[in-house]
Amino acid sequence: MSAVLETQSVVSDLEGYFRRFPDVPRETIVKIELLSCGHWFTDAALAATKGSVVKSYRLFSYDLVPMSDLKRNEARQVPEWFYIFQGPYDLRSVMVQTTLDPSSPYVIDVVDSRLVLTDGRQVICNVSFPVAPAYYTKSFADGVLYHEVIAYGYFVTVFRNCQYWGPKEECRFCDINENARQMKESRTFTLNAPVKNVDYVEEVGREVSREALERYGHQAGVRFLITGGTITKTLRGLGENEFYGQYLRALKFGGPRRHVALQTNAKTKDEIKWLHAEGMDEHNANMEVWDRRLFEWINPGKNRRIGYDEWIKRMIESVDVLGEFNVRPNFVGGVEMAKPHGFATIKEAVDSTTAGIDLMMSHGIDPRFNQWRREPNTNLVKEHEQPPVPTEFYIRLMSNRYEIWKKYGLTLPVKREFEPARCYFANDHGTYDDFPLLKEAPYYQDPKLRTPEEILQKAAGWPEPRKLSIHGPADTKT
Ligand code: SF4
Repeated sequence: MSAVLETQSVVSDLEGYFRRFPDVPRETIVKIELLSCGHWFTDAALAATKGSVVKSYRLFSYDLVPMSDLKRNEARQVPEWFYIFQGPYDLRSVMVQTTLDPSSPYVIDVVDSRLVLTDGRQVICNVSFPVAPAYYTKSFADGVLYHEVIAYGYFVTVFRNCQYWGPKEECRFCDINENARQMKESRTFTLNAPVKNVDYVEEVGREVSREALERYGHQAGVRFLITGGTITKTLRGLGENEFYGQYLRALKFGGPRRHVALQTNAKTKDEIKWLHAEGMDEHNANMEVWDRRLFEWINPGKNRRIGYDEWIKRMIESVDVLGEFNVRPNFVGGVEMAKPHGFATIKEAVDSTTAGIDLMMSHGIDPRFNQWRREPNTNLVKEHEQPPVPTEFYIRLMSNRYEIWKKYGLTLPVKREFEPARCYFANDHGTYDDFPLLKEAPYYQDPKLRTPEEILQKAAGWPEPRKLSIHGPADTKT
């Protein structure tokens, strides 16, 4: 197919979805496409990202190509996420996790001194990038950068490998072990040790609290997510709970007003109680896929160690200890349709996961759906060609999630976090929280507010606008 025809089909496909699903926020449709198909940066756009929160490669790569294919050192330059807004479709700002693919039809470029998302020919919307926090310039005496210890004031991968190893154990969509290997080979990261130093984590946590205090003028609350691979046996002489417990204590009790989440395999009620006492406010037992048959295929290690029924039982019982919406399992949205054993039709896939959302939400569990990125070094992609999951799947599933969210009268997903955009905007990896926010949050309903700054000023009630993002080479006003 010629480049022109491809170009025409991207925009006409987008507009086709806008017409077919008039009640679905257009922002979510563009975001779904960007996460599914990836995107690419021109040289001008790369130059314009200087000073942004750099992509952290903190767990998975979230790229559709291996790091060795990134010839302009993109891995150390591109922003962690970006905002899309305005343009011919008058979009409101939403956050999108950077997902690199040089063959994507979506290209970020500079046109008329302005950063924009294009289909290679015409502008789809404006783009801006988050300004890096001050702590991103700091490093320890051995050269380790603070932001490689805790990314964007939030994300802490304390164990960079997983003891589920090989095709009989590793989750089939996961590239944690490969990602750690390619980071080391690139020789551009300052921290390649698989285990993070607890003292470093504690110190960077303090720095994040210090900067939050400076920013907000009071002991602002911050939120941390501790994550890493599974420990099936021991690591440095510690079992999984004891190992992760060290970091819980360091972050929870190392400063004021902190909310600390931990991501591990599902835990028994007694284990959850113990971890809660060590400082854990929230637990994410990432189940990855709801269907029993697919859970067994896609998560062989989790299935063998814990099993499908026990996993669900543990998630439900965790709510008794931690409270509603402090149990937030992730699902790899779209992996239901992975070849060759996934559902063959959108309807079957959507129906299966919708039933799971209803059951979980009825118990006060908050299921998250980060879109599947089809990373090349994963078992699923190495063993079978994996075309993009249809955009319609995400539109229908996330619409259903929104309806179930309303059915149970749940609260808006506005949360406390160091980065202001992350308090009021939805997660950058999926649209699960964009649906309720774009539909219901008062700060999204004003037709005059479109840029990240305008929306955040209204959301946070700031008397003056604050500079939160980089709009272009000359930081042009939108
Ligand atoms: S438990 Fe699964 S998803 Fe998590 S790091 Fe290990 S292999 Fe990856």
